[in-house]
Amino acid sequence: MAKRLWLSDEELSSLDKSELQALVARHQRIFHASSGYGFWDWNLSNNEFDWSGEFWQQLGWVDEDADFINDSFHMVKLIHPEDLPDTKQALIEHLKTGKHFNRSFRVKTKEGKYRWSQCLCDSVRDETGRVQYVSGINFDITAFKETEEAMRQSEERQRRIINGANDGIWEWSLLEKTFYFSPKIFEMINVSISPSDLADGEKAFEKFRSRVHPDDIEEYDFSWRSHIKSKSTLDIEYRVYGGDNQLYWVRTRGQATFNKEGWATLISGTNSDVTDRKLAEEKVLRSKEIAEKANQAKSQFLSSMSHELRTPLNAILGFSQLFDYENNLTERQHQNVNEIRKAGEHLLKLINDILDLAKIESGKMTLSLEPVLPVRILRECMGLVQSIAETRNIRVDFETNDLDKIYVHADAVRLKQVLLNLMSNGIKYNRDAGRLSIVFTSPDEQTINIKVEDTGFGIPDAQKKYVFEPFNRLGAEESATEGSGVGLVITKQLVEIMGGSIRFTSEVGKGSCFEVSLQKSEEWTAEKAKAPLQDRANQTLQLELNAKQKILYIEDNASNLRLMEQLLGRFEQIELLTVNEAFRGLYVARTEHPDLIILDINLPGMDGYEALKVLQQDPNTQGIPVIALSANAMKHDVKRGLEAGFDDYLTKPVVYAELIAVLNKLLADEVDA
Ligand code: ADP
Repeated sequence: MAKRLWLSDEELSSLDKSELQALVARHQRIFHASSGYGFWDWNLSNNEFDWSGEFWQQLGWVDEDADFINDSFHMVKLIHPEDLPDTKQALIEHLKTGKHFNRSFRVKTKEGKYRWSQCLCDSVRDETGRVQYVSGINFDITAFKETEEAMRQSEERQRRIINGANDGIWEWSLLEKTFYFSPKIFEMINVSISPSDLADGEKAFEKFRSRVHPDDIEEYDFSWRSHIKSKSTLDIEYRVYGGDNQLYWVRTRGQATFNKEGWATLISGTNSDVTDRKLAEEKVLRSKEIAEKANQAKSQFLSSMSHELRTPLNAILGFSQLFDYENNLTERQHQNVNEIRKAGEHLLKLINDILDLAKIESGKMTLSLEPVLPVRILRECMGLVQSIAETRNIRVDFETNDLDKIYVHADAVRLKQVLLNLMSNGIKYNRDAGRLSIVFTSPDEQTINIKVEDTGFGIPDAQKKYVFEPFNRLGAEESATEGSGVGLVITKQLVEIMGGSIRFTSEVGKGSCFEVSLQKSEEWTAEKAKAPLQDRANQTLQLELNAKQKILYIEDNASNLRLMEQLLGRFEQIELLTVNEAFRGLYVARTEHPDLIILDINLPGMDGYEALKVLQQDPNTQGIPVIALSANAMKHDVKRGLEAGFDDYLTKPVVYAELIAVLNKLLADEVDA
């Protein structure tokens, strides 16, 4: 006989005893095999319940519990109370209609805990249709239920996150040519869309795309294409017209999934409303632009103001210098004139400082960094501060600690300004008969430190944080010491532009020590920096000329003309011709053949540069040295002048000694030639 598990009633009744035993044994093997199933059979006529299988054992129910479980009432009690009503309902339905029973519910373990089980059953009915037996199987689906629950939680979490992030999500399947959009995509731009249009992804996409600002659409389309083609990042911000006619800024970020062949199959991503951030950014940009414009206007104003201020200052300083050679003044009158000159010089320093500060603030301060020998700069500064120090009996000394030949990376003119600022502060804020020492040290291979140490009043702790604040004189404004409170700000900025740093220590009653660190320069080439003009004045106020020399001065300002007449009038060797406009000046140059021409730059009609060009091109005048004398005193003005071919470039207010030095140089060259 075939070893089938299911036999009809006739087949069963035809079995002999041994066959029946074999059949039962086979069934028992199956029931007890470790299949994990639980089998049960409920006899409705006597309400008895038979059970078997590993499932029950896993729940802890063993043969000893047979009596307890066999009572069908107790069996029902094993079902979790929450799952019982539905389970009962489904069973009643099955009994009534024969409808397939397949449910999951929790079953109690012997320990009193619950496991999830899946239950499938069927019933056997008599001829009248009454149910005689209900038999079924249960198996454990706890692990599956736990996974399902974890997935449900994770989905819920994702939904919460997406809702919380206020982002819209979308997905585009390139294979199936379908789009999915979450409703948020349209909500965030205040556009209403019917559920059917939203479900029809292509329609929804067109509806969205048609609202992208015309100026942004090209970049919008391009970003998608290039992400698909060349895998570039898909992260774009663009403007979209909202349903309320407002313009929204939307940020789209996405990532494609590429197949093995490198084709994009799916792109998923998010849309966020970034309107507020964009508007804030625009506001910041606008205020930055306004601030920059204002700053430019300020710089412009300061540089034209300085030009305007230099011209009258030129007269004040120039004319007061003349009194030095006046013998019929009383001592008192000399002192008065000296006061005028000192005030003028102070004013000039202020103008220069403010100009520097304005240039630094507007980022227009350009330094030419090159290898500079600090010891040379220091010596030049010593020469300049020595006389002031002497008037107050302050000893100035320096110690270079064998660093005389070390170069630093700096701008020679600006380094001099830095050291002069620190050294003159060290004298100004020193006590009489005090000391000022400058010490070079090298803390490491790359750095040179320059310490400027004084024995002055010191800076109180409470004031230290204001030291580098513009126009803050820390109370020195109450004293007779002159100053503007910008020197140290400029000093710090200059040092920093040169790649260095500055710090200080100070103790009230003992003194202060400002220390500048600069980077050593590897290059040992000779310094290219031309010694600044002021230093070239060798302080002799004598013209060293053998022959008579004719000088033509072209200048439109009457007071400057008079000043020059008086400055040079003292020298018998000089014949000065003055002309107040360029055309006439050129005529005089051709006809009078002067030995040297001094040319103002800002002339009416034709400016100094144009006049210079004519002089250079005219064979009659091209050999004559030409000096520019101008109130355009910025470094780039001087550079431009020298590049244009002026033999020298002097700035107003004219420094007498400087003028003499230049005349000595150029006219002596003339004579030599
Ligand atoms: P100024 O000297 O023109 O006032 P600075 O910017 O050079 O401006 O210096 C700012 C202030 O710092 C000075 O007014 C002074 O009060 C203080 N200060 C600067 N250097 C020293 C110093 N070596 N000793 C004491 N105080 C100093």
